[in-house]
Amino acid sequence: MHTASIISIGDEILRGRIVDTNFAWLSRKLFLMGIDVVHHSTIPDKEEWVCAAFGDAVHRTGIVFSTGGLGPTPDDATRKGLTRFLGREMVYNARIAQDIREFFQKRGLEMPENNLLQAYLPEGAVPMENSEGTAPGIFLRTESGKFIFLLPGPPGEMKAVFRQAEMILKNELQLIPPNIKIFKTIGVPESLLEEWISEKTIPDDVGVAYYPSLRGVDIFLSAREKTSLETAAVDIRGTIQDYVYFEDDEEITIESVVGDLLRERGKKVAVAESCTGGMLASRIVDISGSSDYFLGGVVSYSNSAKVKILGVWDKDIEKYGAVSPQVARQMAFGVREKFNADCSIGITGIAGPTGGTKEKPVGLVYIAFSDKDDTLVRRYNFVGGREAVRTRSATAALNILWVNLKFGDLKKYPFQDGGEWV
Ligand code: ATP
Ligand code: MG
Repeated sequence: MHTASIISIGDEILRGRIVDTNFAWLSRKLFLMGIDVVHHSTIPDKEEWVCAAFGDAVHRTGIVFSTGGLGPTPDDATRKGLTRFLGREMVYNARIAQDIREFFQKRGLEMPENNLLQAYLPEGAVPMENSEGTAPGIFLRTESGKFIFLLPGPPGEMKAVFRQAEMILKNELQLIPPNIKIFKTIGVPESLLEEWISEKTIPDDVGVAYYPSLRGVDIFLSAREKTSLETAAVDIRGTIQDYVYFEDDEEITIESVVGDLLRERGKKVAVAESCTGGMLASRIVDISGSSDYFLGGVVSYSNSAKVKILGVWDKDIEKYGAVSPQVARQMAFGVREKFNADCSIGITGIAGPTGGTKEKPVGLVYIAFSDKDDTLVRRYNFVGGREAVRTRSATAALNILWVNLKFGDLKKYPFQDGGEWV
């Protein structure tokens, strides 16, 4: 098994100003490629720390990744520290300088002279293109044949550059990826999945791990033998397939799957949100290309917005309250008409922690779905704080959209999302 170290570089991480998501992302990626991360360190933006950390990591493992400190400012010490560790010279790379100039020219921006510092690399280093920013990644091999990859700190840039590192490693090394199967599920609690899966006879060498979040539960199967993994996967898929929105790529989200289905079916969606305050719309537009199917949304937080913009009857708000199935229904219907959408969602609820009553407790949320055939409402009692209730609400709405697009008739689908039709 090949082993790797990861060095996270940055004062901001050490001070708790930013959370080291790069490490978690890289580590997961490497594991799935068949590379075992056995060592991780976080160090300040200081040349001597960088130098020492590379010394340590190269000593321990055949592959070393670092993230951060590749920028053009004096506090970016990664290139210098590595060069010192290697005992090599810094050399100017004219092609990188040209790329950086073009990066600014294309955007009509003036290039700060500092940026050319990024064109200095340790001797023997190969730049890795950064499609998302100016700092190129850096790849080199030590005299003893170890692999060193320097990635930029901003997560989007880090991921873009990593793709090239991945290609290099796959070409140069015999990697044996672990036998892993991933099911991404939505709208079903972890406990129920566990119960269903525990009733199956699963080969002894297969491990099942559950990773629940407010957005769904990811299930990871791992096995020594490929055949037992396949047997288990078929068996488990058979029991949970109504809730699986994607397999094998953990980065695919329900919002992107819903988006693809809307695009395929040529359908347009609009949303009306109260307690989620735009969270659902925001998750939909997280996906690049969502303009193909997302017409827009209304954050109708006040009663007057619900009445004036969406055409909710004020008499109904008075009679049933703003958090009621009647209002959710009219919000969904109103926004669909307003935007001339094929389908729509309306959400109204009590996110808490204040504002709950005995009849209408915190976590009570109504979600309506509307299309040309019908407008249907589900009632939920979500648990958790304000953020959890809002995220669960947006997730439940995406689940309803997905069910409608994938399975058609909502009333026939075996929902396990804790809600009920009202
Ligand atoms: P830049 O050219 O933007 O300065 P850089 O390669 O020098 O890039 P850093 O200066 O170390 O990177 O970090 C830039 C930003 O990237 C940080 O402010 C932070 O937002 C993000 N970042 C850096 N490291 C991490 C990390 N380990 N996890 C998550 N985000 C990170
Ligand atoms: Mg920087």
